[in-house]
Amino acid sequence: MDYPEINKNIDDYATSPNLNDLKQRTDNWSWEQIENELEIPNKKFNQAYICVDRHAEKNPEKLAMIWHGANDAIENYTFQQFREESNKFANAITKVGLQKSDRVFFFTDRIPELYFACFGVLKAGGIIAPLFSAFGPEPVAERFNRAEGEYIITTPNLLSKIESIRSELPSLKAIIVISHRSKQSELGNVLQYHEIMKDMSKDFEIVNSDREDWAVMHFTSGTTGLPKGAAHVHNALISHYATGKYVLDLHEDDIYWCTADPGWVTGTSYGMFAPWSNGVTSIIYEGGFSARKWYEVIKKHNVTVWYTAPTAIRLLMKAGSELPKSMDLQSLRYIMSVGEPLNPEGVVWGEAAFNLPIHDNWWQTETGAIMVANYPSLNIRPGSMGKAFPGIKVAIIDDNFKEITEPDVEGQLAVKPGWPSMFRTYWNDEERYQSRFKGEWYITGDRAKKDIDDYFWFIGRDDDVINTAGHLVGPFEVESALIEHEAVAEAGVIGKPDPVAMEIVKAFVSLSEGFEQSDELRRELIGHCRNKLGPGTAPREIEFIDTLPKTRSGKIMRRLLKARELGLPEGDTSTLEDD
Ligand code: ATP
Ligand code: MG
Repeated sequence: MDYPEINKNIDDYATSPNLNDLKQRTDNWSWEQIENELEIPNKKFNQAYICVDRHAEKNPEKLAMIWHGANDAIENYTFQQFREESNKFANAITKVGLQKSDRVFFFTDRIPELYFACFGVLKAGGIIAPLFSAFGPEPVAERFNRAEGEYIITTPNLLSKIESIRSELPSLKAIIVISHRSKQSELGNVLQYHEIMKDMSKDFEIVNSDREDWAVMHFTSGTTGLPKGAAHVHNALISHYATGKYVLDLHEDDIYWCTADPGWVTGTSYGMFAPWSNGVTSIIYEGGFSARKWYEVIKKHNVTVWYTAPTAIRLLMKAGSELPKSMDLQSLRYIMSVGEPLNPEGVVWGEAAFNLPIHDNWWQTETGAIMVANYPSLNIRPGSMGKAFPGIKVAIIDDNFKEITEPDVEGQLAVKPGWPSMFRTYWNDEERYQSRFKGEWYITGDRAKKDIDDYFWFIGRDDDVINTAGHLVGPFEVESALIEHEAVAEAGVIGKPDPVAMEIVKAFVSLSEGFEQSDELRRELIGHCRNKLGPGTAPREIEFIDTLPKTRSGKIMRRLLKARELGLPEGDTSTLEDD
């Protein structure tokens, strides 16, 4: 194996992991015990109560959020302030007319009021539906109408996008604009956040208190097609808390930073619910990606636990390992990644740059929380997404939906329904929801295999797997081989139709700084892959491109590479990142 196992010795950790023996924890798992830890009083089963009020009651002065603005302004908020602001907003939105299970869309930058309002809506009985602020008007209208939304909360800089589609949103009842951070005064026919908050009480009696009440609607990333509105209930918090404790390894004194925007499910499940249900201080950084800036954020706030994504890690790799070393990021103790497969090269790069390996984990919008993970106490096999979370049955199944127990056999990745954060429907598309359940399994749409020691290895999405000369190739292994080469920054691999082989493996490659495209380099890369993967799996064609098409959550859109290659329509591109 190219990448040796990374051994863990928990005695080496200054902070003893919450999960120090996966097998033992799995064998003795009880969701009931997790619930008991949360000490939820009768009639208070509400995500906002568990994340905010519960801590405000016990530890009011503890910092819940450190907000770091794009212009470097810093604002701190305690759990008590969080409770008061979210209560005020719950009162305000109730007065505006919110009814139970109304859909409230969030179309704002990452500012503190976004979080106050989210928890306010949850307390008031509404469903929060966060969107990326970089979306254009059409993707907003499309999602809003599919969910038959009632309210939009936004900021003045984004208002014109909504105004341009306002007449196309028949179910819209009101727009609320958070304007006090900007100088704009003329806003038209909207409600002002600070006006409706003005005389509101700091007390509020929580409305949603049944664990099956609706809480969050999240649109999927749109990597494989039209984004789907996965709807979740308050009960999901049980999974957020448990995975926050045992995968994120959150401890009371941690300063935690999840880099994801709430427009993507990672930014809510792990930017809000997991840290705050664990009572941990969370950093919200308003700015976008920049290697130096991100390291400065870590340094300034002494971030201890950091959760990010492969696309960011690849960009950080591009910026080199000297930069983080020179910045002396001593506070970091644990790093994780999600969203796409993390190339083994990325795992070990973490060791070079931070003296810490990067821990990959797997989940989806639909699963609501992490299902498969690398844990602090588990040896890492670079390239593997780790092992199933305790209490969750994850399996590889065949085309007849039967579990494959033999190791190292590829199949569909499936999860046994019933985990707390399972989505409960695709909003207004129950048929599609039902189609995801076959036999006794929820079908994830991903392909994977499990080794003899129960580590899961991602192969590819069902739609992306390449059938070449009679065998199946997952794009991930080819992309991983390519990015090991110093000339390659990123790679996206597809199957290109071929009259003889059915499909051939074709790679799109963007180059690292200082490298020029040439036929010689193309041959060298093919040779490199042949050595690593064998001639059947190595790409037959390589095309150099400046950047790969990606979703706003940073996932390579292979379906777009393929559509462009074949000259076919591009389908839904609402989540496509700007170049
Ligand atoms: P859509 O369903 O609209 O096509 P999407 O599947 O990308 O979009 P998400 O729910 O944001 O939407 O992403 C979940 C998917 O991302 C997983 O099904 C998997 O394909 C991929 N993924 C996430 N984490 C990992 C990981 N650690 N390793 C491999 N793949 C991952
Ligand atoms: Mg999906």
